[in-house]
Order: sequence, then C-alpha cells, then structure tokens
Amino acid sequence: MKIRDTFLPLSSPVLGEEEIAEVVDTIRSNWLTTGPKTKRFEAEFSAFTGASAALGVNSCTSALHCALVAMGIGAGDEVITTPLTFAATANVIEHVGARPVFVDVDPETLNLDVDKIERSLTLKTKAILPVHLAGHPVELDSLAALAKARRLLLLEDAAHAVGAEYKGRKIGSGENPAAFSFHTTKNMTTADGGMLTGPSAFVDKARVPSLHGMSNDGWKRYEQGGAWFYEILMPGFKYNMNDIQASFGLAQLKKLPGFQARRTAIAHAYTAAFSGEPALQVPADRGHVVHAWHLYILRLSLAALTISRDRFIDELRARRVGTSVHFIPMHLHPYYRDKYRFRPAALPVAVAEYERFMSLPLGAGMTDEDVGYVIEAVKDIIAKFRA
Ligand SMILES: *Cc1c(COP(=O)(O)O)cnc(C)c1O
Repeated sequence: MKIRDTFLPLSSPVLGEEEIAEVVDTIRSNWLTTGPKTKRFEAEFSAFTGASAALGVNSCTSALHCALVAMGIGAGDEVITTPLTFAATANVIEHVGARPVFVDVDPETLNLDVDKIERSLTLKTKAILPVHLAGHPVELDSLAALAKARRLLLLEDAAHAVGAEYKGRKIGSGENPAAFSFHTTKNMTTADGGMLTGPSAFVDKARVPSLHGMSNDGWKRYEQGGAWFYEILMPGFKYNMNDIQASFGLAQLKKLPGFQARRTAIAHAYTAAFSGEPALQVPADRGHVVHAWHLYILRLSLAALTISRDRFIDELRARRVGTSVHFIPMHLHPYYRDKYRFRPAALPVAVAEYERFMSLPLGAGMTDEDVGYVIEAVKDIIAKFRA
C-alpha cells in the first residue's frame, strides 16, 4: 500500500471560529474565573443531558473526587469498579481513603460485568463506580437493581459517554451522579474540564468540596452583588471551572450532535469493513443503547495472526496510523499490584482482552479518505501476517 505523508493521530479536537469568538468574548468581558459563562454552560449541559443539575469543574477526575466526598465515602469503605479504565477512576477512590475493588469485565462490551459484582461485595462495600467504556453504556438497569437491593450508591464515570443513551435515556439524566470529561481527547473539549450531573441536592452538596469547602452562599460571592460572607464547611479542593473553559464548552456543546453523527458514521464504516474478517472482532453495539463512540476498540483474534497486538500497533505506526490501548488493566499497574498484591490472573477476562485490543483513530474531523486509509492499513497488515 502507499504510505500517507502525514501521521494520522488517534484523536484531535475539532475547533473553529465559534470557540475563538466565545473565548474572546469572555476575555473582553474581563470576567475570567467562574462566573456567568460557567453558570450558562452548567445550565445548557443539564438541558442537553436531561440532568436536574450540573456542576462545572476543572476535570472529570475532580468531578469524581467531589462526588465521592459528597457521597460520604472514606476510610474503611470499598468501592466496586472496573479494571479497564483510566487511572483517575481508581485514583480518586484512593484519594478519599477508600479501597477500589476491581471486578472483571463482560467479554462482549468490556464493561463491568454486573453478574460478577455480587461475589465481591462485603460489609464495607459502599458504592459501585462503573465506566461507560468507549462510550458504550453499562447495563444501568441491572446495576441500579443491584445497588438498590444491597443499598449501595452508584456513581457513573461518564468520561467517554457524553451524548450516549441507555434505553432511551441520556447518560447523566438518571437518579445517580455521573462525571463527564472535556479533556482535549474526549468527544467535546474545554481544553481541560469536567462536569458532574445528578439530582440538585446532590450537586449542591458536591459543589462544597469543589471550591475550598465554602458554603454555597460563599460560592455566590462570585456573582455581581454577591455577599462577602462565607463559611468553610470542610477542607475542600480548588476544582472550579473557569469562564474561559466554559466558553469552549458552550461552543462545543452546540456542535456535539454533529460530532456525534460523524463519529457514528466512522465507527459504522469500520465495522462494515471489519465484520466477517476472522482475524478481527469489532466492538459491541447493543440495540438498546446509543453508543457515544468515544473510542473504536478493535480486537485481534491472535490465533489467526502470526504477530502480537504490540507488533500490530508497530505495523500501524509504520503506516502512519496512530493507535492506543484503552486500557492497561488497573491491577497490573505497580501501585495497585503491590498495594493489594494482585496477580494478573485475578481478573482473567480483562487481561486476556487487554492483550488483544487497540483503539483506532476516531474523531469528528476525520475525512472519508482518512477512514478509508485506516481500513486499508488494517487489511494490509492482516494480509501480510495471517497465520
Ligand atoms: C479521561 C478519563 C478520565 C479523566 O478525565 P479528566 O477530565 O482528564 O480528569 C476519567 N475516566 C476515564 C475513563 C477517562 O477516559
């Protein structure tokens, strides 16, 4: 095949004049930190997801951390989560002094396997923290039923899932809190940023740790005519979203449906090209969900190839195609492995799948030519290394 001239990255943000205009407008207003734009972005994001309320923060990690604090989770508690996630999901559990308990994943969706949770529950289990991996929602009905029966709290890591739906309901619109990421690589971006959605009373509670532990009245001192008096209710964090970030968010949110349509079309093109190829397994897309297609996780059938996943990635890089692996199972990382004495075999599905998956380039800015090129590159490698 003819190798392209430029490197095709795994993802890149799609920004335009709208983002520039909104940011410039904020600069001209002379109000840079949390203020009217953040309030508007919170309101528009709530309206988009169908959430009762939303809290803008400086990252999804901060949103998760504030949510755990507001849920009252702390030392001695256990939180069930998935090993196939970014470090932030487990790290925040450590930050509040609790213990992350990793439960193996469902081999079809790679999401937390709800049927396997029961046997990991103890008297110390307080919450379940699932991740909608790649933007494919977890089985929320079964999770909610289990949480209700066992009196557990539920917090969704929705970093990948803005715009995703489960049985006709948007992720973030439910009774339990959900944390979204606007990191540069995500489906919409504020450079860095995050949002916590949930019931109004819960969001008010999470707002306190997000800004130094100040009482909600203190938060309002940012508004015109705001009172000077506030009280510190806890030693909180400095996690607020600023109005520059919110400006990006306001412009990106308007474009999100268009981004989503493009990501979906690309994912469908990949799946159409790779279905039926015995060396490949295309990602799950269950009928009762709307997939946000943050990632396109392609799995190799290693027995059908003479090379490993690592070599496959090298071959794609040689063809100037960017990839990544989402994710290295958390229990293999030195901190978690050593602290909790994990063996890889503790979570056999996560480890077996990890050894054979990689993510292909996916972004709203990709051209049809880019998509066709990725398909050609994958097929070229398979033809060369078929067992
Ligand atoms: C990106 C990501 C996060 C963290 O998002 P930030 O906004 O960078 O803090 C958390 N969880 C998952 C699954 C992610 O992919």
